[in-house]
Amino acid sequence: MWIFVHIYDIAVIGAGPVGMFATFYAGLRSADVVLIEGTAQVGGQPTALYPQKKIYDIAGMPEISGQDLGVTLAQQMARFDPTIKLNTKVTSIEQADEYLDLTAGSEHIYARAVILATGAGAFAPRPLAAPYDHALDGKRVLYTITDLEQLRGAHVAIAGGGDSAIDWALALEPIAAHVDLIHRRDQFRGLESSVTALQQSHVELHTPKLIAELHQDGSQLDLDLRPVRGEEHEHLHADYLLVSYGFASDNKQLRAWHIDLEHNQVQVSREFATSRPHVYAIGDAVTYPGKLKLIASGFGEAPTAVDSIMKELYPQRRAPLHSSSMIQDHK
Ligand SMILES: Cc1cc2nc3c(=O)[nH]c(=O)nc-3n(C[C@H](O)[C@H](O)[C@H](O)COP(=O)(O)OP(=O)(O)OC[C@H]3O[C@@H](n4cnc5c(N)ncnc54)[C@H](O)[C@@H]3O)c2cc1C
Repeated sequence: MWIFVHIYDIAVIGAGPVGMFATFYAGLRSADVVLIEGTAQVGGQPTALYPQKKIYDIAGMPEISGQDLGVTLAQQMARFDPTIKLNTKVTSIEQADEYLDLTAGSEHIYARAVILATGAGAFAPRPLAAPYDHALDGKRVLYTITDLEQLRGAHVAIAGGGDSAIDWALALEPIAAHVDLIHRRDQFRGLESSVTALQQSHVELHTPKLIAELHQDGSQLDLDLRPVRGEEHEHLHADYLLVSYGFASDNKQLRAWHIDLEHNQVQVSREFATSRPHVYAIGDAVTYPGKLKLIASGFGEAPTAVDSIMKELYPQRRAPLHSSSMIQDHK
């Protein structure tokens, strides 16, 4: 009995910004492409982890929120109407005859080449170490903010000292009644310009301090702050606590895919080829000398990976360089 299966030219695994742009670019090169995403939405980290935060370092976009970046990338991809599979977490990649066989649950997806754009892998926010009633999660204790307006006029305490904690503090300062920032070190780890803006803002800094305990006190939270060295406790009352300790990522999956890794990142060549034939990788998932985990860097990697695959799959095809000629060709 013959079973006819669809074999895509390229399967992009991961619908973060980099996978989405790679999918658009594969469409631009007339590849038959499928985009596979494990969660229920496209957009990756910006959409899931910092939808309201502004991004300032994407060429040609003076500022854009994480949410809007996902929306504009989806619009850009839609031009070539790619196949998109959501809630489809790829668990294995096996070499079949002339193609790769990707397994996601009971589904098999076949492609001649794969681009891994799995970013940080499955991500989850790092939890607050202090003991507290987890029934407060999502109500008074927040790990992300989906709508800044929800905190208008509120007293918000933020725990953390990295870029995202500082960005949230600055974003909330004009909206909230009061913002406190609690960090275990004296120095903040943010971009110099953000740290300067923080120091010039009305955000109240509590450093070097730890949250020892957290209780609900009427309609507010009672945060027991302790100096990193010393015993003197300080009580801080706030309507909300935003925990911004960054995210722990789980890319254990990569280890099962028989790809050479360095510190859990995929090693790639200049063409973004991995150690496995027909498997390429781009974005936050990869490492190479000088790699920056930035959206702009990943956007630059995507066309090179797609071009390398197209040369491999269609060596006879002419590769036009500019999008204007490719889009005229397409219509
Ligand atoms: C708080 C914060 C602020 C940031 N601010 C900036 C900034 O201002 N500017 C900037 O350039 N960068 C910023 N970054 C970094 C930026 O978000 C990342 O560089 C970017 O998201 C990487 O994109 P990506 O597509 O490679 O991966 P991701 O965005 O991580 O997307 C990967 C996608 O792959 C999916 N996936 C993973 N494994 C599988 C699987 N097995 N099967 C199917 N799907 C899978 C995931 O669900 C996810 O949707 C920030 C990051 C954080 C956390």
